[in-house]
Amino acid sequence: MEDNSSVREILAKLVSFPTVSRDTNLPLVEWVEAYLSQHGIRSERIMSPCGTKAHLYAQTGPEIDGGVILSGHTDVVPVDGQAWTTDPWTLTERDGKLYGRGSCDMKGFDALALMAMVRAAKLPLKRPLQLALSFDEEVGCVAVVDLVETMLGALPRAREVIVGEPTMMRVVTGHKGGLAYKVHVRGFEVHSSLLPYGVSAIMQAAKLIDWANQRNAENAARQPSELAAPFDPPFTTLHVGTIEGGTAHNITAKDCRFFIEFRFVPGESPQDWANAFEAKAAELTTEMQKIHPDSGIDLERGFALPALTPETDGPAETLARRLTGDNGRHVVSYGTEGSQFQVRGYSTVICGPGDIAQAHQPDEFLSLEQLAAGEAFIDRLLDALCA
Ligand SMILES: [Zn+2]
Repeated sequence: MEDNSSVREILAKLVSFPTVSRDTNLPLVEWVEAYLSQHGIRSERIMSPCGTKAHLYAQTGPEIDGGVILSGHTDVVPVDGQAWTTDPWTLTERDGKLYGRGSCDMKGFDALALMAMVRAAKLPLKRPLQLALSFDEEVGCVAVVDLVETMLGALPRAREVIVGEPTMMRVVTGHKGGLAYKVHVRGFEVHSSLLPYGVSAIMQAAKLIDWANQRNAENAARQPSELAAPFDPPFTTLHVGTIEGGTAHNITAKDCRFFIEFRFVPGESPQDWANAFEAKAAELTTEMQKIHPDSGIDLERGFALPALTPETDGPAETLARRLTGDNGRHVVSYGTEGSQFQVRGYSTVICGPGDIAQAHQPDEFLSLEQLAAGEAFIDRLLDALCA
């Protein structure tokens, strides 16, 4: 692509790669590598353990600390079963909107970040601009840890991280964290008429689920902390989304499986919630094993994403407010990779074009107006990096 290729052309190219999280993103990464190198910017890959995906990072500008990271993910959610009226992998303009899978979440920002890198390479930057593109964001924001830690070791340390998830270019300083478990309760089968000699996996699971109900009631009754107050609801919630188990009405259930997730507010730690839940499961296991030693509860930890905590006088927030003019206080209900940067010491905010309401939807779109707002943001960012 030419020097003067528009952000829209870059976006069209990015959308043309069907980078659903379960599939490879390597063709996209190869294209980005070639595009950057055409403009004299060297980038590095970090391969996934399975070898079918890669993160990419790059830097332009002076080799000094104090730069800015633009962070985006390359993966998108599937289109299976969705009623699209356009080809999801062809960026299509209609009524001032650019339709395509990932146009909003978040290849629009990725395109802006790539344009920023290319333009920055020709400017007398006083501090560097860094690019972080990840895979597997849509499946738990865990893979990015590798990218953050590699960048910490390999590049001068940046001062601000801007994660361009769709916020309508508002400056978002906080989100809840998440923690999940697959739970397998193992009972002992007897005829239900002999209930005290068996262990019903279902009835034991109910105790653990009721523990979650009790925590919800407690959390809801408590006065929200200052960090929790901006959220709706302003407290940590525990939720069981699926459950299955049992064989027949007259057999104590041998197995019960359920899935529990915690969405915790900033200021609370995933480890504290994990400890509390695991302690309750251990307590129940002890009771169950008094009846039969083969019974018990197995826990498999799913994703664990820290909360993004609003910073006090954070440089990223200050910068993003200056670039957008937005001085409102915003938190969001979805998780992002931002917290993985923040817990590793980077000042971090979320700010990007598009509305999260369009993310993951059929006929996902990014409005031309939001894309233009993103370009204005990049213009001001490049000015700030040269000042
Ligand atoms: Zn996203």
